[in-house]
Amino acid sequence: MSDRRPRLGVMGGTFDPIHNGHLVAASEVQATFDLDEVIFVPTGQPWQKGARQVAEAEDRYLMTVIATASNPRFSVSRVDIDRPGLTYTVDTLRDLRAARGPDAEFFFITGADALTQILTWRDVDELFQMAHFVGCTRPGHTFEIDEIPPDAVTLLEIPALAISSTECRERVAAGRPIWYLVPDGIVQYINKRRMYLKP
Ligand code: ATP
Ligand code: MG
Repeated sequence: MSDRRPRLGVMGGTFDPIHNGHLVAASEVQATFDLDEVIFVPTGQPWQKGARQVAEAEDRYLMTVIATASNPRFSVSRVDIDRPGLTYTVDTLRDLRAARGPDAEFFFITGADALTQILTWRDVDELFQMAHFVGCTRPGHTFEIDEIPPDAVTLLEIPALAISSTECRERVAAGRPIWYLVPDGIVQYINKRRMYLKP
């Protein structure tokens, strides 16, 4: 039996919808850091994300399950969607620690755009104790690392992927295709549930 501590990636997101940018980033971090598993964690239902209401948690959760099902190293956790109230990363990591035990080593995967806001997150010092942070660089987003402790964060370049959920939603609303921006099953799910159509 191996005495290696389990190395677990954590990929939080709204996943409204999940797209190939998320999947490529998770796959790249898995390989680079030799992770045993990457846990995708759809966020709880925010009262508001900007001015826009996000799709129902259950739809976002199911799309995440569909998109990750074929990869044996990918899994999906309900911790954030089952916890009432707003999602804070510190709560996500606490719940996953409780579920996965004291040995697990966590790698929190986030886009560079989200990482720039990290210092505004709740309990940021505790966060850096709880996980190593991996910032995926994303086309069109410059990144300042000045105030972040360098041993707590690794930046990783992901093959140019300008895909965003916003773009996918706008395409659906405009009747344009999202084939190959998201997995095939997600195209079908969005059609079946008639999501992201113009009101
Ligand atoms: P939206 O356009 O609605 O903001 P999004 O595409 O940014 O959606 P999120 O669910 O907000 O998707 O992102 C979840 C995580 O994935 C975040 O850390 C985000 O920075 C990262 N991410 C999003 N798109 C990409 C991409 N193309 N490549 C790498 N990481 C990404
Ligand atoms: Mg985003």
